[in-house]
Amino acid sequence: MDKTINRKLFDEVMVPNYAPSQVIPVRGSGSRLWDQAGKEYIDFAGGIAVNALGHCHPELVKTLQEQSQQLWHLSNAWTNEPAIQLASQLTKATFAEQVYFSNSGAEANEAALKLARKYAKDHFGADKTEIIAFDNSFHGRTLFTVTTGGQPKYCEGYEPLPGDITHLPFNDLAALEYKISDHTCAVIIEPIQGEGGIIAAEPLFLEGVRALCTKHNALLIFDEIQTGMGRSGSLFAYQNYEVIPDILTSAKALGCGFPIGATLTTKVIAESFTVGTHGSTYGGNPLACAVASKALELINDPTLFAGVKQRQRMFLSGLTQLNQKIGLFRDIRVEGLLIGCELKISWQGKARELQKLAEEQGVMVLIAGPNVLRLAPSLIIPYPDMNKGLQHLAQAMLALKLGY
Ligand SMILES: *Cc1c(COP(=O)(O)O)cnc(C)c1O
Repeated sequence: MDKTINRKLFDEVMVPNYAPSQVIPVRGSGSRLWDQAGKEYIDFAGGIAVNALGHCHPELVKTLQEQSQQLWHLSNAWTNEPAIQLASQLTKATFAEQVYFSNSGAEANEAALKLARKYAKDHFGADKTEIIAFDNSFHGRTLFTVTTGGQPKYCEGYEPLPGDITHLPFNDLAALEYKISDHTCAVIIEPIQGEGGIIAAEPLFLEGVRALCTKHNALLIFDEIQTGMGRSGSLFAYQNYEVIPDILTSAKALGCGFPIGATLTTKVIAESFTVGTHGSTYGGNPLACAVASKALELINDPTLFAGVKQRQRMFLSGLTQLNQKIGLFRDIRVEGLLIGCELKISWQGKARELQKLAEEQGVMVLIAGPNVLRLAPSLIIPYPDMNKGLQHLAQAMLALKLGY
């Protein structure tokens, strides 16, 4: 260990937009992590729903090593085999016919929103520009995507903001029916709100959103950056609903930790991205695409999905039992392996404290806002690690409750 590289140095040399834990992990394997001091942790955070196959999955390591000796980067003046391969896998596995690659979730959504604006203009004229999004949604941090997201505090200080974006309450079909019009260009929605606290869209709501979009020639964009790649127990969460979007965005677990984003759509819509209308230097990079291609192959497997559902049931019963004994949560929401435990009124605002206590006990967890403990473990977390992590979490819950 290099003693000069420590958490204190972070505060000196890094821009202060994050407040990371005092712990610096240095190694990961499967669902376990080790810090600079060699202390072991069970990982229920999964890099915020990114490490869907755990840390350093041997097949992903092998793919990355092989590709790294073959070809790293070309730019978009040349295409490459891994990008074509990944795009064809994604189109085979979904409603989509064509794919645009970028490097992150925000970029995937930025492309989706730009494409929707361009498509509306190409087909219906310059007036069809309104983007409808939902309260408490999260779509990324570029100026367009952060303005589209439904948490106004994330936009503060960055004005002037991109225009013609409307926010409506989630799961409220009447509100959308009232507001949507032929001026609406697109509706963007997370089938399960992640950052917003693990809130699933009701099936009837999503079906209604689809019908209203179709009626008004507005594109329906599903942001599946957090819910996709097996997280919900299907490859993409839309596959659990009887609703097909026009555009779908993926990132996070798409590369299982190697940065990549993708915007999926139909051929007719994709046609609006004519040569030169959008682009990215790194998008479709061979290293990223090779890893994502292998990740998709490993994740898009009925046995893996059955394992997600099995783990989902075990987390639900494990967390329910803990809560019956200790009683901090008013609601436990388990959507595949995206899990939100909402604190009771008397414990409101304590999610971060619980997260810190959990880390002290040896389990890494996430939060979604001040009142929700969020878990997004590996989709293949070994059962003994799951049980061990839940035991550590129980200790943390007791420590919060008893105040030590
Ligand atoms: C994480 C996330 C994003 C942003 O992805 P980045 O890779 O951080 O840009 C967008 N939408 C949703 C639903 C997310 O969970």
